[in-house]
Amino acid sequence: MGVLTAKRTFDKSYFIAWVIAILLFLAVTLVAYQIRQTQINTLNQILKGQSDRTRSQIIYNAQELTSDLASMVNRWLVNEGTQEINWRSDARNFIERTPGVNEIWWIDQNLKVRWSETLLPLHHVDIQNIISQPGMTEKLALARQDNLPEFSHVVNTDDGYNIIFILMPIVYDNDFDGFFAIEIYIDDFIERILDDPLNTGFYTKAYAGEKVVYTNGPELTKDSYLEYFELNLDADTDGWVFKVYPTENLAATILSPLPYVVFAGGFLIVVMLLLTLLSRHKAKQKSLQLGVEIKHREKIQQKLSYLANHDALTHLPNRHFITEYIEKYLADSEKAATPFSLLFIDLDHFKDVNDTLGHAMGDRLLMKLPELFAQIFRKQDIIARMGGDEFIVLLPGKMAEESIITLVGRFMKQLKYPVDIEGHQIRLTGSVGVAMYPRDGTTVNELLSNADAALYRAKDKGRNTYAIYDSVIEHKAQARLKLVNQLHEAQEQQRFEMFYQPRYDCQGNMVGAEALMRWLQQDGDYQKPKTFIELLEDTGLIVSVSWQLFSQSLQNFKILMNNHKNIILSFNVSAKLLEHPEFLNRLQYIVDEQQFPYDRLELELTEQTLIQDVENSQFILNQLTAWGINVAIDDFGTGYSSLSYLKNFPVHALKIDKSFIRDMNEDEDDLELVKTMIIMGQNLNITTVAEGVETQAQLRKLMAMGCDQYQGFLFSHPISFTELQANINQLSNSPLMNLDGSDGLN
Ligand code: C2E
Ligand code: CA
Ligand code: CA
Repeated sequence: MGVLTAKRTFDKSYFIAWVIAILLFLAVTLVAYQIRQTQINTLNQILKGQSDRTRSQIIYNAQELTSDLASMVNRWLVNEGTQEINWRSDARNFIERTPGVNEIWWIDQNLKVRWSETLLPLHHVDIQNIISQPGMTEKLALARQDNLPEFSHVVNTDDGYNIIFILMPIVYDNDFDGFFAIEIYIDDFIERILDDPLNTGFYTKAYAGEKVVYTNGPELTKDSYLEYFELNLDADTDGWVFKVYPTENLAATILSPLPYVVFAGGFLIVVMLLLTLLSRHKAKQKSLQLGVEIKHREKIQQKLSYLANHDALTHLPNRHFITEYIEKYLADSEKAATPFSLLFIDLDHFKDVNDTLGHAMGDRLLMKLPELFAQIFRKQDIIARMGGDEFIVLLPGKMAEESIITLVGRFMKQLKYPVDIEGHQIRLTGSVGVAMYPRDGTTVNELLSNADAALYRAKDKGRNTYAIYDSVIEHKAQARLKLVNQLHEAQEQQRFEMFYQPRYDCQGNMVGAEALMRWLQQDGDYQKPKTFIELLEDTGLIVSVSWQLFSQSLQNFKILMNNHKNIILSFNVSAKLLEHPEFLNRLQYIVDEQQFPYDRLELELTEQTLIQDVENSQFILNQLTAWGINVAIDDFGTGYSSLSYLKNFPVHALKIDKSFIRDMNEDEDDLELVKTMIIMGQNLNITTVAEGVETQAQLRKLMAMGCDQYQGFLFSHPISFTELQANINQLSNSPLMNLDGSDGLN
C-alpha cells in the first residue's frame, strides 16, 4: 500500500487571508501615523498661539514701560524748579509699581549722572561706566534726536543677573535736560509678564544674540516642538529671540502614546489573526490527511467486508452473506411481510470434472457460472455460492409454484449448453431444491435446510431435476435426521455387529468369509446396511464403526482359525476409511494387536473408492501387498470399466458384481461380460470371485467359464458369528460343489 498523502493544492482562502492580514497591517500603521500627525499638528497649533500670546504680552508690557517713562518725563517738565524732591518721589513710585526695575538715574545733558534713586540697593551698577561704553554715546545721541527711548545691550551683574537699561531723553521744545536711565532685571520683568508654565503648558526662553537672557524651563531636548519669534526692543538694537516650547506634561498629554498603542494593538491582532489562520490551515491540512486516512481505512474495511461476504473465485455473494441477508430480511418486520423463494442448486457430477480435467479447469468452469446465472435470473435475484458446486438463488417477491418451475426449467436448459473451457466442451446438469418463505419456514436455518432437503430429494430422483419442498420431503428429512441420531446411539452402544458369508473354491472348499455389517435393533432383528450405510459414510461415522468391527471380526476369525487355519477374512473398506490419513497405521496397529496373520486378511475395495485418489490408493495398495494383505476389487464391472488401472494396482481378486451374475441367464451381453472378466482375471493371474450366486444354473455356467470362487445365497446367507461357529464343519465343505459342473442340481 502506498504512502498516504493529502494533495496539497493551492489554497485560495489561505492566500486571501494573508492578503487581508497584510492590508490590515498597513491600515493599522496608517491610522497610527494619522493619529500621530494630528497630535503633532494640534501641538504645533497650540504652540503657535502661545507664541503669539507671549509676543504680544511682552510688546504690550514694554510699551507700558516706555509710556510710563514718557509720563515721568512730562511730570519732570511740569515740576521744573522743585525738581529734586519731586523727582525722587516720582522715581520711587515708578520703581515700586514697575516690576524688575531696581534703580533710576537722572543723567544731565553733559551725560553726567546727577541723581539716583533706589529702594533697595541690591548691588551697585556704575551707570557712568555703562553710558561711556562704545556705542552708547551714539545711542544717546539718537535718543535725543528722535525723542524716543533707547535700550542698552545686556549687562551681567556680579551675581549673575542679566540686566538692561532704558535711556529716556528729556526733551521739550528746544530744551534738552539729559536722560532718565532705568535699570531692568530681565528675569523679573519677563517673569511677571508671563504666566506660570504649569498653567500655560509652555516654557519660554529668550536669547539676546548668543546669550540666554531668560528661561523658565529646562534645557531644550528636542527642536521639533518649538516656536520662536524675534523681538526688537527698539529700532537699532539687535533683535531678541524668544523660543516657546511645551512642558513635559503638555507634551505627554497631547502627544499621548495612543498611536503606538493603536499600532501595537493592530499589529497584535494581525499576528493573532495570522496565527489563528495558520493553525486553522494546519488543522485543515491535518483533517484532510485524516480524511484520506479514514477513506483508506474505509477502503480496507470495504475490501474486508467484500472478502467476508463474497466468494473469491466467482465473486458471487457467499454463504455468510446470504444467510445474514435472509436473517436481516426476516428480522425486519416490514420486509418480512413480503414472501420470497430459495433455490438450492447443486451441479451434478461436478466432481468428475475436477477429477478428469483437474481442479484448475473446475475453477474456470465455476467462474463462468455467474454469467450463465445472469442470463436466466433477474437483477433483483440474489445468487450466492454456498461452497463447492452449491449455489443459492433468492427470488424476491411472491411467485407461483408454476412460475418457479418454469424458471428452474429454463435454468436447467441453459446449463446444458456446452461451455467451452480451453477447447473442452463441457455440459453441465444440476439439481435444484426449492423452498418458499414463509410457507416452508420462517428462519434461515429452516428455509436453507428445507431447500437442501428438497435438493436432496431431487438428487434422489436421479439428478438433473428439481424438487419443491413439501411435507413428504420434510418427513424424509426428519426421518434422516432421526436416523443419524440413532446411528450415533448405536455406535455408542456397540449395536453394530458382523455377519459372515462364506466363500468357496470350485472344489466346494470354504476358502474364507466376507464380513458384512449388521445393526442390531431393539427388537432383536438385524438391519442390513442398505438403509444406513450411506448415512454412516455421509456423517463420517463409518470410520469409528469400521475399526470397531474390524477388531471384532479379527477376534472372531482367530477363534475359527484354531480349527480352520487357512480361511481368509474379507473386510469391506469404505472410501472414507481409505482416505483417512491414519488408515495404514491404524490397520497395522489393530492387526498386530490381535496378532492376526497378514496373509489371512483380504480387503475389499470398490473401483469407485480406488479411483477417488489414485496416487493415494496406489501407495496404500503397495503397502498392503508388501505386508502380505490381499486386495480384492468389489462390485467389479459396475464402475469405470477402464480396466487398464488393474495393471497399476496390485490386486489379488476380482469380485464380479452380483448384477451380472443375476442377469447372466437372460442377458447374453452380461454373460459375455462375465466371460470376459473371468478371462481377464486368468490372464492377469487374478482370482475371480462370483458374487450373489443364487442358483445351480448360475453356478454351473460360472464353473464352466472357469470362475475361481463363489459366494451367494446358494451356499449360505450371511450369518452371525455364533451361527457360523456352530455350523463351520458343515459349511467348510459345500456338498453343492460335488457336481463336476454336469449334474442338474436345481
Ligand atoms: P457387498 O460388499 O457387495 O456385499 C455383498 C452383498 O450381497 C451383501 O449385502 C450380501 O448380503 C449380498 N448377497 C450375498 N449373496 C447374495 C445373493 O446370492 N443374492 C443377493 N441378492 N445378494 C447377496 P449386505 O450385507 O446387505 O451389504 C450390502 C453392502 O453394504 C455391501 O455390498 C457393502 O458394500 C456394504 N457393507 C456391508 N458391510 C460393510 C462393512 O463392514 N463395511 C463397509 N464399508 N461396507 C459394508
Ligand atoms: Ca463386498
Ligand atoms: Ca460386492
